[in-house]
Amino acid sequence: DLFYRLLPKVELHAHLNGSVSSETMETLIKRKPHLNIEHSMTAIRRGQRRSLDECFQVFKVIHQLVDSEEDILMVAKAVIQEFAADGVKYLELRSTPREVTETGLTKQRYIETVLEAIRQCKQEEVDIDVRFIVAVDRRHGPLVAMETVKLAEDFLLSSDGVVVGLDLSGDPTVGHGKDLLSALEKAKNCGLKLALHLSEVPSQREESELLLNLPPDRIGHGTFLHPEFGGSDSLVDKVCKQNIPIEMCLTSNVKGQTVPSYDKHHFQYWYKRGHPCVLCKITRCLFLLFLLFRQTDDKGVFCTDLSQEYQLAASTFGLTQEAVWMLSQQAIGYTFAPEPIKQRLEKKWAELKQQIL
Ligand code: 5GP
Repeated sequence: DLFYRLLPKVELHAHLNGSVSSETMETLIKRKPHLNIEHSMTAIRRGQRRSLDECFQVFKVIHQLVDSEEDILMVAKAVIQEFAADGVKYLELRSTPREVTETGLTKQRYIETVLEAIRQCKQEEVDIDVRFIVAVDRRHGPLVAMETVKLAEDFLLSSDGVVVGLDLSGDPTVGHGKDLLSALEKAKNCGLKLALHLSEVPSQREESELLLNLPPDRIGHGTFLHPEFGGSDSLVDKVCKQNIPIEMCLTSNVKGQTVPSYDKHHFQYWYKRGHPCVLCKITRCLFLLFLLFRQTDDKGVFCTDLSQEYQLAASTFGLTQEAVWMLSQQAIGYTFAPEPIKQRLEKKWAELKQQIL
């Protein structure tokens, strides 16, 4: 629908390597025929693991495909351009810096290359403001987390406001947040905003209690925070009292089977309470995964961009266009952008509102 496409949007939960489009993926696969990607994908299917697990297996494959500065630059530019083409005016991209000995990639260069992609897009006048969040993969433990925080801190000072925060992500069934607490505290104390994946699986209740004391500046998913979903009143209280915005990915959660159906999505629970919610796009990897292994004939109905996520939320929860507009506009307030940028975005929304709504 045209309205959703024209609607100016804010995307706050985009994992770089989770946002690779099928077109870019094809280019990457062609560039690296020796990896025999189809073979590794088949191995995932044979393993018959739970879907969340499968999802993280897919990232391993993608990381093999994106392992040099050249790849990162290409992927990051494509992702930014694709978001812009979908009407996203402000994007916070996040990614886990990796080092790859074979290609000489270092974590420092990883971040510098993403920043270079952002710079090039700006120079090419792509109509989107992009910021970067450095991601910590929980699977790698406290030492790596601390190292990543130090790196992020350096860039916070040197990137001219492009690096804004720190993310905690990675397989939620691995490790415990308590081991990462000191790294996260350090990040917060040096001025990095915290966007933490919380309560993606029911077993994270205790961890979420702990991490909510930091408190994070935004929550990723938060699927199992509320009591109806196995969370608790105490978790909900903490989130509400501190008014922490929640980034929600409807399609991602339903297809990833952490939420049974769209109408049961926790968006409804928080939205009805008037709690800050930000709609975000599905990670493309999940999209590709399910396309390949589960519902090959489902391509047409599968959400692939943020416009469709908004449309899906509107049709599932009966939101008017005015309400949808509010949802997208309020997201400006939940960005990690400095105040002048927020004001510029507000102005842009106000101008566009007259033309679109
Ligand atoms: P990258 O950081 O390499 O740009 O993007 C892929 C990484 O993002 C994955 O390896 C994983 O650590 C993280 N990620 C992507 N989607 C999800 C998700 O739904 N949940 C969690 N916890 N982590 C994710």
